[in-house]
Amino acid sequence: MFRLVACAGVGVALATSCGSSGGVMIARSNATDVVDTTPDGSSPDTSAPDTSAPDNSSPDTATPDTSSPDTAAPDTSSPDTGPPTTDGLPTQMNLPGTDIPLDGPYPFDPNKPPQPFDGLMVATVHDLEAFWAEQMPAVFGKDYVPLAGGVFPAYPERTDYPPNGCITQYSDVEANGFYCPDGDYITWDDVGYALDGYTDHGSGAITGLMSHEWGHAIQQRTGVFDIVPEVSTPVVELQADCYSGAWFAHIARGESTLLSFTDADIRSGLLDTALSADPVGSSPTDEEAHGAGFDRVGAFQDGFNLGVTQCAGYPEHNPPITEFPFDSTYDGDQDPGNAPYDSLVLGDDTTMGDIPTDLNTYWTQTLPDSFTPLTITSFNGEPPACDGLTADSIKQTLAVYCASTGDVLVNDSAARTAVDRVGDFAAGYFLAAAWAEAAQISVDSKLSGVKRVLYDDCFVGVWAKSLPTDDTGPDDRLLEISPGDLDEAIATAILLADDSADVGLNGDAYQKVDAFRHGALGGISGCNTYFSS
Ligand SMILES: [Zn+2]
Repeated sequence: MFRLVACAGVGVALATSCGSSGGVMIARSNATDVVDTTPDGSSPDTSAPDTSAPDNSSPDTATPDTSSPDTAAPDTSSPDTGPPTTDGLPTQMNLPGTDIPLDGPYPFDPNKPPQPFDGLMVATVHDLEAFWAEQMPAVFGKDYVPLAGGVFPAYPERTDYPPNGCITQYSDVEANGFYCPDGDYITWDDVGYALDGYTDHGSGAITGLMSHEWGHAIQQRTGVFDIVPEVSTPVVELQADCYSGAWFAHIARGESTLLSFTDADIRSGLLDTALSADPVGSSPTDEEAHGAGFDRVGAFQDGFNLGVTQCAGYPEHNPPITEFPFDSTYDGDQDPGNAPYDSLVLGDDTTMGDIPTDLNTYWTQTLPDSFTPLTITSFNGEPPACDGLTADSIKQTLAVYCASTGDVLVNDSAARTAVDRVGDFAAGYFLAAAWAEAAQISVDSKLSGVKRVLYDDCFVGVWAKSLPTDDTGPDDRLLEISPGDLDEAIATAILLADDSADVGLNGDAYQKVDAFRHGALGGISGCNTYFSS
């Protein structure tokens, strides 16, 4: 959640603005997802990743730099450059249904209560097997060995638990899913975790879970667990996400005979990665737990773009881990039901809350010669006129910038719903996107269409990067950003994305997240690099 700077100093009772961990939309388990038990049931040994802090000394570790304004000029001069697209992906999801025997290399318990995702799960397992049978020799020079313990859907009535390792009853895996190195199997809560995830955000809950956990099985085979804690827990988790992304890309390229993905499926996988369980051993109040979704989506995209070889290098070349310093007042235990929407968006006089005020401060400092401060107007029902846009099109947005009046129209009920669903940084995102559009106009941007929208997403990241992370920031900055805000930003970007590549209005989830991350990690120069590549 955002923190208002005033919170730390004078204890203003804005509950959620003073340090909650940031609300992801779907509460997922914080328990371990690689579980290791010794035969006598004692505590995990050295093969289990620990929770030691990531190594920040590496030059590869990116930490948002809030020490000075990013004054690099935005380069929006060329309309012909843009980020990679996912055009041409398969557009049909091929659910195998009952075409695949349940008693293949990984037999499912025939007594398992049927679930709507069973066919997808079976196809995913079979395809992961085929994928790694090919990748393992190619990348690691060794044969792939199938999972000795196979896969193990758990449900309350099940009694035939694996003889070696990790679980002896349903409650051991309830509300979770993980890889068990000792038994070399993957288990998940079939009636809770998997079903809830599938119901809440689609196919990615199944494909994301299995491809991530299969990544841990690959780590077991490639000796990564043997070099923990030299390889930190976050890196272990990010490598599994990277492997997951590499597998998603293989599906997206149409290489599977069992599965094909639409953009909606990739969006679902990204959302699952952004919102799924925190790193091993973390808790909601564990500092390491925060910012995880932002980094995990980055690792997923790294694997999607560059493949298994890229992921294999993670232990040696630490992936970027975004860490935010913590204020000592943080307790992670605030009431999340009291989001200060009005103070953040509208302000006491309902004309200018802290977010728009801060956005005006940032952009007038960044573009002093061209940017004019904006105003906001909140509407319910019929919107005010705006640059000739139809009322219906305005009502489909959360916020829209009207160049003719210098005003940002905020769709009040839709905006409040988004904040309730995602968290308060949803408001930061859609307002910052409107301000970003004004910034593009002020520098005479020639970008159009999806590229222009994606540049706005990048500028949202630029603004997020500029926000102080504690109360030692400049006096004229009204807000602090907390680590959970980045996860909320990722979730908002995904939710604002087009459902399908053929819509081509707002950019797909992959593009929007990628654009936001480039701005958040690299500032304006990061956006320029991204759009010129
Ligand atoms: Zn994991």
